[in-house]
Amino acid sequence: MTRFGFVWRALAAVGALGLSATVAAHALEPAAPSPGTAASSTAAAPALPVVYDDWFTSEALRVDLFHVGTDQENSYALDEVVAEPVWPGTRRYLIDPFGYGTWRVRVTDLASGREIFRQGYATLFDEWTGTDEARTGIRRSMSESVRFPMPKKAVLVHLDRRVPGADFRPVVSFPIDPSSYMISRARPFGDLQVVDLGGEAAPDKAMDVLIVPEGYAPSDADKLRADLKRFARVFLDYEPWKSNRARIHMRGILAWSRESGVSEPRKGIYRDTVLGSTFNTFDSARYLTVQHTKRLRQIASLAPYDTLFVMVNSSRYGGGGIYNQWSVFTSDNEYDDYLMLHEYGHHMGALGDEYYTSAVASDEDAMYPPGTEPWEPNLTALLDGTRNSAKWRDLIAPSTPVPTPDEPKYAAVVGAFEGAGYKAKGLFRPQHDCKMFHKGLVEFCAVCSRSLERMVRYYSNEDLTP
Ligand SMILES: [Zn+2]
Ligand SMILES: [Zn+2]
Repeated sequence: MTRFGFVWRALAAVGALGLSATVAAHALEPAAPSPGTAASSTAAAPALPVVYDDWFTSEALRVDLFHVGTDQENSYALDEVVAEPVWPGTRRYLIDPFGYGTWRVRVTDLASGREIFRQGYATLFDEWTGTDEARTGIRRSMSESVRFPMPKKAVLVHLDRRVPGADFRPVVSFPIDPSSYMISRARPFGDLQVVDLGGEAAPDKAMDVLIVPEGYAPSDADKLRADLKRFARVFLDYEPWKSNRARIHMRGILAWSRESGVSEPRKGIYRDTVLGSTFNTFDSARYLTVQHTKRLRQIASLAPYDTLFVMVNSSRYGGGGIYNQWSVFTSDNEYDDYLMLHEYGHHMGALGDEYYTSAVASDEDAMYPPGTEPWEPNLTALLDGTRNSAKWRDLIAPSTPVPTPDEPKYAAVVGAFEGAGYKAKGLFRPQHDCKMFHKGLVEFCAVCSRSLERMVRYYSNEDLTP
């Protein structure tokens, strides 16, 4: 049988099934799903669990995308589809048990329509839509990627966007035939060396954590090796990862930039670095993000990874973390440990910022619309004003009042403390203090810790209950 490229195969599928290959971009306001799409925003999880070996091989499929649009509407365009050698993630919870993120990727079997994979993620693009630049009506694009285990048969890949305060709505879908020769098996950056930083578990039994360096020139080789070891120790010695060390495998990649350091546009400093990272994202002083995310994915694919650190060779304070995309921290700041762990909380645990005193680049109401419950596990709008609407109510003692007064008496208990998510009013955090609240030596609060620990178990294929 003739094998078509995935694009041609896609068109054939569209004809046969009457599907539209791409659904037009939607604005933020809710609307009914477009007629004819296989996806529905309320698609229920299958009654029977998806058995990994029935549907997937041990490889992974990465779909590189351009996220394109304005503050009013945005959608995706296909860039490249790439086979990766190992799927390191869950084989047990193939349908996302968490429901976090502003977007989710869903994979359905093309022939039967059965949903066989679902995972949530968030995007830098969503943050951009809350900026003044977006409000001027300018169109932007950003690179993003989604990954899932390599399907055995042709699939439809759906990208669904969360409607604030409601469920997800399908935005776009791409048919992909895993047997197509149009799927790239090239291995860019294949000469880079992977180094082991601790842990022994195989990818299907471990949360695989990878550190990709940024702004290290070949002349920084000794520093790079030392920094990788230093931060691996910081991470593995910190709770809740310390008590989960048997479930964590950490690696680093010796990736080189042509120049040392990182770009700081406000200071007129520009560096040619492998990932093109830059301070002043959205013209914010400390927001340090990755620009060349496709290169990050290409380099990262040299090792198994569930979660990603980008370690930036800089002494300035800055970083960023996006759920299921990447986390960035700088290597030589007095708060570098905090930066590493806090940003990773966003990236790996889907945790929200609990602080509310520092200004951020995006509009707070765009990120957290009034009257809607945030999706992050450590933030609540406490919509009915009582403990019943706190998502961590099982951790609140009956004797603790809700909302909880921010008084010394309640300094160490779990409650619902007003002030979180950049807002002094209307959003609540679980404890007085937390690594997501304050940049001191404080630990993650009980709610954040539980959430992070569950995520370790998700990636290492263990039971999530309790
Ligand atoms: Zn943060
Ligand atoms: Zn917390």
